[in-house]
Order: sequence, then structure tokens, then C-alpha cells
Amino acid sequence: MAKRIIIIDDNASTLEVTRQILVQAGYEVSTFSAMQPGLQAIAQNPPDGVLLDIAMPGVDGLEACRRLRLSPQLVSMKIFILSGKRFDQERDRALRLGANAYITKPITPAELVRRVDETMHGVVKLTYWGVRGTLPVTGHRSLRYGGNTPCVTLSIPDGRLVIFDAGSGIYELSRSLAAAKSQRLEALLLVSHPHWDHVNALPFFAPLYQAGNRIEMYAPGSTDVDAESALFSQMGDIHFPISSREFAAQLTIRGLSTGSFERRGLKVSTMALSHPGLCLGYRVEFDGISVCYVTDNELFDREGSRESEEYMERLAAFAHGTDVLITDTTYTDAEYPRFVGWGHSRVSEVVELAVRAEAHSVHLFHHDPSQSDDDIDRKHQDAAKMIADRGAPVICVTPSEGQTFEVKRSEAPTVVKIAS
Ligand SMILES: [Zn+2]
Ligand SMILES: [Zn+2]
Repeated sequence: MAKRIIIIDDNASTLEVTRQILVQAGYEVSTFSAMQPGLQAIAQNPPDGVLLDIAMPGVDGLEACRRLRLSPQLVSMKIFILSGKRFDQERDRALRLGANAYITKPITPAELVRRVDETMHGVVKLTYWGVRGTLPVTGHRSLRYGGNTPCVTLSIPDGRLVIFDAGSGIYELSRSLAAAKSQRLEALLLVSHPHWDHVNALPFFAPLYQAGNRIEMYAPGSTDVDAESALFSQMGDIHFPISSREFAAQLTIRGLSTGSFERRGLKVSTMALSHPGLCLGYRVEFDGISVCYVTDNELFDREGSRESEEYMERLAAFAHGTDVLITDTTYTDAEYPRFVGWGHSRVSEVVELAVRAEAHSVHLFHHDPSQSDDDIDRKHQDAAKMIADRGAPVICVTPSEGQTFEVKRSEAPTVVKIAS
């Protein structure tokens, strides 16, 4: 059944254009050019969503949002605030008052439908921009899985982006955001650790140079200064021609250790991983779903090692019940003995972790640069067979660069598209 939306806007042409766009997108739409009759219609027969123009005479969009959120009958109704203002304070205020999304005009029809769809259906999308570890891989060995180093995003329905790592894949993310003419970006960038393959395309992330974007960056470090130099010492004269002083986005950089914090409904928890230097695994939770990003990480032989066994248990508890466990699967079991102590894991231990964590799905990630697409296929087959042999209900996925998944509560994510 089509979801019902009410639009309240005193500008007749905006009202009609917005109505037509949403009707074409499959919504059943009613419109009101004045606030009071619109609010009465909402009270009489609550719709699934309401789009409120912020600048209305009398009761404006924010005040209407505040009043609607006082009604217990309307808790599940999605509220969108439409505004021509790009001020952070307005947006923050709207979200604090209980709006689900703040949409700034002008906006393209496709972007409007995307924002409305994602919010109405509560869809969190997971996209891979780079899946290789250590070094980018070019040429025939990487045509199917892609050759970029780690960068993964979660798109939150309210428009925020969570970005894991800034390997060479972040350049593809940057291009995609530019092509979509995305509105002002609000992002949390969570860096696992400052090894090259996880940070070295940060200077090529164009949103950093655009005023109006708001980007909060987190990286391992005991103080904020440490985190900043871990990320941006690569932008000195020797390594890069542009200094981080050229950034125009509103930027905050924070050092993180283990613990958790919350940002408007997004809960981020961290755990120190088994890797040279401080490397953080992240667990991000939003509206009942969770994704764990656990790379780079070595799962040592547990036989006879209480320490390794305890670490496995702690990591399994950290990732327990997660919808998606994205994890370092650098080596095959046959390769691993040559690389003990390098800080990366092999297939059988990844399977052990996913099964113990009771993850709904495990995504094999951070492939060694010496491996071809066919080698990665074999790791996938090995992992899928080991999981099947154990009769565990874990879905094994080996994502390719450009792939997007919808993350749904307590079910396996489904592939929805391959990004171009
Ligand atoms: Zn790495
Ligand atoms: Zn590393």
C-alpha cells in the first residue's frame, strides 16, 4: 500500500511541484497551503510522513514539528523540515525538536525522492568504495572486486554519512558525491588507524575543501593533536602540495581510544584491535541495526594460548549479534603461516569469529594485494564452506568495490545496486 504524505507549504508552485514528484515516486499525497488546516488533517487521520515548510506565517514549520512531537499517536510519523536556509543552527534545532530529516532547497527531484524514500523506509545503506588492503591493485587482477584500499560508508536516512577509513577508495566516494550534486555534507569519518592504506587519499576528498560541509573526524590517539598529525602530517610540503589549512569545511578532529559516544541517535563504540600500533574496530548502531568495521586485525592461533582465546572472546562479544561484520580476511589459511605477526587474519579464524559473534552476515574485507579476483573467490568459497559445515546461520558475503547493501534489522542485507 502506498505510504501517505501530507505537504504543508505556503508557496503554491513549490507545493505543486513537490506533490507531483512524490506522487510519481509512488506516494499518496495531500497538500495544504496553510498550517492550521494541515495540522487538523494530520490529527484526524495521521499520515506516514509530513513535509513542513519552515517559513510559514503564524505557526512555522519548527513550531509545528514541536507540537506534532508532543502527540503520542504520532511518534512513528516521519517529519521532514523543508528550508531554504543552510544554517547549522536551524538544522540542529529541527532535529532536536524531533524532525527526522532537514532538507534544504533547492533540491533535485531525484535527491528529494532519495531523501524521502530513505527516511520513510528507515533504510541504512552500506557501500564499499575500496576493499583491498595494503596497496591499491590495478589491472586484470582486480577487475571484479576493484583495486582501491579501504573506504566504506553508511548512509543514514536523515542524510548523514558515516565513513570508515580514507584509503584510495575515498576518492571514488568523493567523485560520487560530486556527481550526485549532494547537498551540504554532514559526515562522521571514523579512521581505524593511520597506516597508509587507510588514510592516504584523505587529501583527495573534495568535501574537505567545500565551505558549508560539516565533517567530524575520529582517529586513534590519546590527544586531539595526535589524531590530527596522524591524519594530516602527510599534507606537509614533502608529501603533498596542498596544506590542510586549505580546508574550508567545518572540521573537528578528535583522538579516540576505547569507549563509546553518541551523535543524534548514532551510537559508536570502539575496541582496540590486534595490529601494530593503536588500531580501532568500530561498532555503529542506529535505529536497531548495527554494523561492525573490524580491520586491520590478526586472530592468532588460539591453541595453547589463553591470551589469543580471550581476545577472540572479547572481539566476539564486541561484535555480538551484529547485522554486518566487516572484517580483515587478508590471507587464506595456506598463506597465513608465512605472515604470522603481520597484523592480519586468515579465513578459518574469521569464520570462528563470525560464528562466535552470531553475526547475521560476515563481509570478507582487506584482501592482500598479491591476490587476484580468482584468489578472492577461493577465500569466499572456503569461508562459505566452513560456515556451512558448522551449520551456522551466518551469511558469507565478499563485497566488491561499488556495491551497495541495504542493512535491515536482524536479516541479511540484500544487494540493491552496483554503483557506477
Ligand atoms: Zn590495512
Ligand atoms: Zn594496518
